[in-house]
Amino acid sequence: MINTISVREELEKSGSQKALHITLPFYENGRPLCSTESEKHALWGMTLLKAGSMRFRWNESNENRRATLKKILSEIKKPVCSGNCSSAEGSCDCKSRLAPIELIHSKDVFVTQKEGDTKNLKGDGLITKNPLLVPAVTVADCLPLFLYDRKNKATGAFHSGWKGTGIAGNGVKKMQEEFGSKPEDILAAIGPHIGSCCYFVDKERADYFTQNFGKKCIEKAENPASEEEADLIKRFPYRLSLTEANLFILKQAGIKEENITVAEDCTCCTSFADGTKVFGSFRRQAAFLPPQIDADTRSRSMTVQAAFVMMNV
Ligand SMILES: [Zn+2]
Repeated sequence: MINTISVREELEKSGSQKALHITLPFYENGRPLCSTESEKHALWGMTLLKAGSMRFRWNESNENRRATLKKILSEIKKPVCSGNCSSAEGSCDCKSRLAPIELIHSKDVFVTQKEGDTKNLKGDGLITKNPLLVPAVTVADCLPLFLYDRKNKATGAFHSGWKGTGIAGNGVKKMQEEFGSKPEDILAAIGPHIGSCCYFVDKERADYFTQNFGKKCIEKAENPASEEEADLIKRFPYRLSLTEANLFILKQAGIKEENITVAEDCTCCTSFADGTKVFGSFRRQAAFLPPQIDADTRSRSMTVQAAFVMMNV
């Protein structure tokens, strides 16, 4: 059985509604896999609406992103040096380092093994075996997906929007090729993204998904919740579940159901009890801006979240 969690519930349970980010464990055989003194494991996480935009472009600076992610990374305990860091041996002052990538809605996955080697890289997925590196992508409605090979201690973070759906399979394949990972040792987590509650598509896209990623990811849209939604359904009569599409891909790649975790939150509509939204969302914040708004302004209107995977060192 697939493991499901709710980021909103986790935050509310711990009274962390004002938190800037959350980190969560992977699940193995239906149970959370937590680090022990003798064995460390990976965590996946993402920033939240309250953290502000984590927008990332190689040719831009984003002070909010720099400061926020630096703080998140500094909270990770100092690891034992793996010998992979860039410091000279013996003078090591190891700390986890961010490995970012500029997204292009592709299915391209790259390997990163030392700090800085993703510089100017464009693609949508990163894998590493260096426990000090923190592969990071950004999302705002697109699906963040994380992999952890618990035997090889390899991690990966992927950005899977509708165009990039399939990158999860490429990620598993790349881990097999590069690190000799076995699908039965790989744990997967699907982070918060736009749910089928809020994601309407036309017939062409619905057909593309059922043909490639199984029938379960498309549902006929019925019972609109509002007049606005009724209008939308006239043009986009199907609901798309990126969760189901990615579960199809992960299972096809040989990942065991009981090793998969799905966050059931919808980035578009999930709210705390007081009504404030939990996540940034393209659809909620930018999709319905007037048509004269240019693409760049539109993309700056949404709160992009950083999604990352790191060894709990
Ligand atoms: Zn929703």
